[in-house]
Amino acid sequence: MPSTLTEMSGKTGVVYLVGAGPGDSGLLTMRGGELLGRAEVVVYDALVNPDLLRLAPKDAEFIYAGKRANTRAIPQGELNQLLVAKAQEGRTVVRLKGGDPYVFGRGGEEAEELRLADVCFEVVPGITSIVAATNYAGIPITHRDFCSGFTVVTGHEDPTKDTSSIDWEHLAKISGTKVVLMGVERIGVISEQLITHGMDPATPVGMVRWGTTGRQESLTGTLETIAEQVAQKGFKAPAVTVIGGVVGLREKLNWFEERPLFAQRVVATRTRTQASQLSRRLLELGADVLEIPTIKIGPPKRKEVLVEAIAALGEYDWMVFTSPNGVTSFFDYFFRAFDDIRALGNLRIAAVGPATAAKLSELRLRVDAMPRKYLTDEIAGAIQEFESVENLKIMLARAEVANPELPKELISLGAIVDDVPVYETLIETEDHNGAAARLLEEGADWITFTSSSTVQHFHERFDLPALKEKYPKLRLASIGPETSKALAALREPPTVEATEHTIDGLVEALLGR
Ligand code: SAH
Repeated sequence: MPSTLTEMSGKTGVVYLVGAGPGDSGLLTMRGGELLGRAEVVVYDALVNPDLLRLAPKDAEFIYAGKRANTRAIPQGELNQLLVAKAQEGRTVVRLKGGDPYVFGRGGEEAEELRLADVCFEVVPGITSIVAATNYAGIPITHRDFCSGFTVVTGHEDPTKDTSSIDWEHLAKISGTKVVLMGVERIGVISEQLITHGMDPATPVGMVRWGTTGRQESLTGTLETIAEQVAQKGFKAPAVTVIGGVVGLREKLNWFEERPLFAQRVVATRTRTQASQLSRRLLELGADVLEIPTIKIGPPKRKEVLVEAIAALGEYDWMVFTSPNGVTSFFDYFFRAFDDIRALGNLRIAAVGPATAAKLSELRLRVDAMPRKYLTDEIAGAIQEFESVENLKIMLARAEVANPELPKELISLGAIVDDVPVYETLIETEDHNGAAARLLEEGADWITFTSSSTVQHFHERFDLPALKEKYPKLRLASIGPETSKALAALREPPTVEATEHTIDGLVEALLGR
């Protein structure tokens, strides 16, 4: 029996119409995540959170189907043909659509086309903005005290035209919450129609833009006032409009917009693989996070030094790791040479910082010495506390270009030090999620730096002083003294420096604690 859809469909591939949820990347379904994880082609829209693309394999083909500033959207007919063609090439296609694929997303039409072309497909529901954007604005779509149902319509059609398929008179008369999608531009005529057909002009109205994301903005008024408020504030699509008594509950239930970093745009500059821990925390605090990795990790140029060191592991008394990247890279190479952790021998291990120690403990390796202040220049002291380093052989497993002071101090204490490059820090220039473009266009409230190399590479890419001049509100947060030094060298000292030199400490500093 065929076990997967691909087998069932014979030689042709499969198209998965996947609901990406309303924006918050945590609101993708597990099935959606699983399918993205093995996609060969991803076709996505403007409303899809681009951070989700990270879940797909790096070598997948990514096709943007929406409108961008100076390009038109792929017309629906062409898009349908594209999905069919990619599947007929035998590829696994994920068609990622904002919210739920079958809610005003033309998902139904895409599925019909696939059926017509005999292409195997699956439709994965998504959390729709109807319930999610309203929820994040503190508005429950139903509540026993106010209504016993809700009606959703599109505001895309002109309500005054005879051709409108929405019976506004009927809508005005039925009870319950009313939700309008795609209704920002026509909010004036929509509210007028509802009032004309008998609704109380004082009925509360709420509008939520970019709901569930850090860019969320909302607005409340009444049927009578809302159009003017929209015009005054320059409030724009994409937004969900809610009409009814439940809007009043926002006063009590506005859990998301009260978060401490809400409406603050924060840039995270770590590597793509490391960014998520920081981003997730910032998102949970309500921030609009721009993930702009400025560095990536590559193999060291002088690989022979590493190979020699691994071959001579037995000669070392200590290994020193100064970053989680160092641990990951070293053990990548180590396990290519050995299949048993015991090949490490009896050496003792020193680590700078809890994140480095945590990476080691994933391998069940305990750290023997760790400077209390997580600072690289205190490593010699930490080892000295354990034993005298005189005549001991120490391997520093770290970045190819790293602080030259560290070996000097150990050497002056009589140690024999091999500075072994285990990875190279490279500049990252790609902008997979459009965050770099947003930073340049809209600026930000904070840029967070987690190492001196993120500072240098960020500056190389964006020219930090120029960016600060363009956006004077911009503040800089540093994880610790090394990073602050790198900022000061650019004459841009950080606004805050973390007291504890960890991601948590950095977040605390942003919060002003
Ligand atoms: N399939 C989508 C809707 C697509 S139609 C869903 O289920 O949510 C596009 C409209 O959806 C937008 O014009 C806007 O009205 C609404 N929308 C989608 N995402 C939104 C968001 N994050 N915040 C507010 N409105 C959103």
